[in-house]
Amino acid sequence: MSVSSRDALRAALLYFLLSLLWLSITGYLLSNHLDESADVARWQLVNGGLWTLFSAVLIFAARSGWLSFLGIDAAVRHRKADRERLRQAAAVFDCTREGVLVSDTKGQIVHVNRAFAEITGYQKDEVLGRQPSLFKSGHHSKAFYEEMFATLQSHDEWSGEIWNRRKGGEIYPQWQTIRAVRDEKGRVCHYVAVFSDISAIKDSEHELAHLAHHDPLTGLPNRLLFTDRAAQALASAQIHKRGCALLMIDLDHFKIINDSLGHNVGDQLLKAVAERLQGMFGPGITLARLGGDEFAVLAESCPQLMQAAALAQRVIDGLKEPFQLGGHALFVNASIGISLFPSDALSAEQLLRNADSALFKAKSAGREGYALYTEELTAHAQHRVEIASQLRRALEQGELRVYYQPVHDLRSRRLVGVEALVRWQHPERGLVAPAEFIPIAERTGLIAEIDAWVLHQACAQMCEWLKAGVDLSFVAVNVSSRLFARRELFQQVAQVLHDTGLDPAFLELEVTESAVMEDPEVALEQMHRLRELGLRLAIDDFGTGYSSLLRLKRLPVQKLKIDQGFVAGLPWDEDDAAIVRVIIALAQSMGMQVHAEGVEQVEQAAFLLDHDCDLGQGYWFGKPVPAPMLDWANRPQIP
Ligand code: C2E
Ligand code: MG
Ligand code: MG
Repeated sequence: MSVSSRDALRAALLYFLLSLLWLSITGYLLSNHLDESADVARWQLVNGGLWTLFSAVLIFAARSGWLSFLGIDAAVRHRKADRERLRQAAAVFDCTREGVLVSDTKGQIVHVNRAFAEITGYQKDEVLGRQPSLFKSGHHSKAFYEEMFATLQSHDEWSGEIWNRRKGGEIYPQWQTIRAVRDEKGRVCHYVAVFSDISAIKDSEHELAHLAHHDPLTGLPNRLLFTDRAAQALASAQIHKRGCALLMIDLDHFKIINDSLGHNVGDQLLKAVAERLQGMFGPGITLARLGGDEFAVLAESCPQLMQAAALAQRVIDGLKEPFQLGGHALFVNASIGISLFPSDALSAEQLLRNADSALFKAKSAGREGYALYTEELTAHAQHRVEIASQLRRALEQGELRVYYQPVHDLRSRRLVGVEALVRWQHPERGLVAPAEFIPIAERTGLIAEIDAWVLHQACAQMCEWLKAGVDLSFVAVNVSSRLFARRELFQQVAQVLHDTGLDPAFLELEVTESAVMEDPEVALEQMHRLRELGLRLAIDDFGTGYSSLLRLKRLPVQKLKIDQGFVAGLPWDEDDAAIVRVIIALAQSMGMQVHAEGVEQVEQAAFLLDHDCDLGQGYWFGKPVPAPMLDWANRPQIP
C-alpha cells in the first residue's frame, strides 16, 4: 500500500471512530430521555449511522486502492514530491562546488549559493539586489559582453571562459554557463549563472606550456620556442625592412668534460655557460639551448654582417674567462655559425639550417671561431672585425698619419690650399686607405676620436706653415656624417682652434652632401654655429646626394666640391660635362666657390678652367703626401 493510501486509511478510521462515538452518545440520549427532543436525537442517530457507514466505505476504498483511481491519491502524492524536489534542489544548490547566481530580468541578483561566496569573496547580503557587473574585470571588450547577451537571447544559454574580479581585487578566469529561465507563459523571468574557478587549471596549463617550451636544465627557451620566436621576428623584420642574424653556438670539446668529470659537472657547466651568455645580451636578443652543448642566439636588429660577426666575437671572447666548478677551472671554447636574414634565408627553419652548416664550417676551420653561411662574407667580416679591434690600438699607438693633397687655383695654377686626408700606417699591412677603415670607425664610434685627432693635426700643421711664411689660404678637414649632427662637434672644433691658435679663417670643414641632406634642419643649425666660429664650410662629393636646391640656397656654405665621379668623364662624356657645367653655374649663382676633385688629366683641368671652375684637386696636380713632401712651387701648365 502506498504512503498516501495509508494516510487516507488513517483519516477514514478516525472518521469511523468519531462517527461511532457520535452514534453511542445519540443512542444513550435516546434511551434515557424519551421526551419531546426524541425526534432530534433519533435524527442524530441516523446521521451518525450514515457517517459511520461512509467512513467504513472510505476505509474499504483506501484499502482496495479505489482512491488512486479517483485521482485523490495522485494529487496528494504530487504535492509531496514537489516539496521533496525543492528540498533536494536547495541542498544541491548549497552543496555544489560551482558558484550559482540567479538574477531577475532587471539584472538584479536575487540569489547566490555558498560556493559563490567562496569563489568571489562576496557574502550573500553584499550582492543581493546588485548587478553582476560588480564582478567585471575590465579584461573583456564591450563587444565580448554584447555577443554574450546576443547568444543568451537567441539560444537561452551562453557558456564560455570569462575573467572576473574577486572582492579582494584579484582577477581570475572562470568557466561560466548562463541560462535563461522562462515562466509557464514562456516569458524569461530569471537568469541562472553557474560557474567554476578555473585559475588552477590555467596555472597548470601555463606550467605545462613552460615545460614544453623551455629547457629544464638552463631554463632557456628550447628549439620549439626559439623557432617560433625566430619566425615572429622574421615576419616583423620583413615589415620593418630590418636585418636579423642567427648565431648557432657549439662548445668545443664539451664531450671531454662530460666524460672526464662526469655528467653532473657537465650539467653545471652548461648552466653556467647559459647564465654567462644571458648576461651578455640585452633586449632584442633571444638566447636558447637547442640541445646538448648547442645554443642559439637570435639578434632581431642586426642590419650588417659586421654586427653579427662582432656579436659572435663577443660571445667567443666572453666565454674565454674560465668557469670555476667543483674545484676545477674549466676552459670553454665556442664555435659559431652565422646566418643572416634576408640575405641567406627567408624562413626561420632555413636560417637555422644555414647557421648549422656555417657552424660546421667554423668547426672544420679549426674551432674557436665563427663562420658565416656565405664563405666570401666570412673572410670579409673577419677582416672588418679585425680592423675594428686594431683601430683603437692604432690611434693609441700613433699609427695614424695625416697626408695632405694640394688644391690649385685653376686660373693662376698656384697651390692655394690642402686637404687633410687620414692614413693608417699598419705595422704589417703598410699604408691603409681611409676607405677601408673610416666606415668601420663610423660604426664602432671611434670616428669621433679619429676626426678630432686629424683636425688637431691639420690645424697645428697649418699654424706651422703660416709661421714658416707659406702662402696658403686654407687647410680642409673632413667631418664624418656621424659627427656632423652632434652638438659636441661645435665644442670640439672651438677647442682645437683654441688649443692650436689657428686663425679660423684658414680652416675649411668638408661635410658630405648626404650628411647635410640626412636632416637638413639640424644641418642648417649646426652650420650656422660652426660659421660663427669664423671658419669656412664646403659641401664634399657634391652631385651624389640629391640636394634640394631650395635647401642648398639656405645653407651658409662657401664652396661646392664636384664629386670626382663627374670629373672622371670629362671632357668626352656628354652627361658628365653637362652636369659639371650645371654645378658650376649653380655655385656661381649662389655666390659659392667651385672646387673639382679627382682631376687626373690635363684635358679635365682645361675643361674646368674653360667653364670657369675655381679650384682643382687631383693626381694631375699632386697626390696626397706627408706635409714635408708638398711641392709649394708646383704650377702645372693648363693649355
Ligand atoms: P674625399 O674627402 O672626397 O677625399 C678625396 C679622395 O679622393 C681622397 O681619397 C683622395 O686621395 C682621392 N683623390 C684625390 N685626387 C684623386 C684623383 O685624381 N683620382 C682619384 N682616383 N682619387 C683621388 P682618400 O684619401 O682615400 O679618402 C677617401 C675618403 O675618405 C675621403 O673622400 C673622405 O671622405 C674620407 N676621409 C679621408 N680622411 C678623412 C678624415 O680624416 N676624416 C673623415 N671623416 N673622413 C676622411
Ligand atoms: Mg674631402
Ligand atoms: Mg670628395
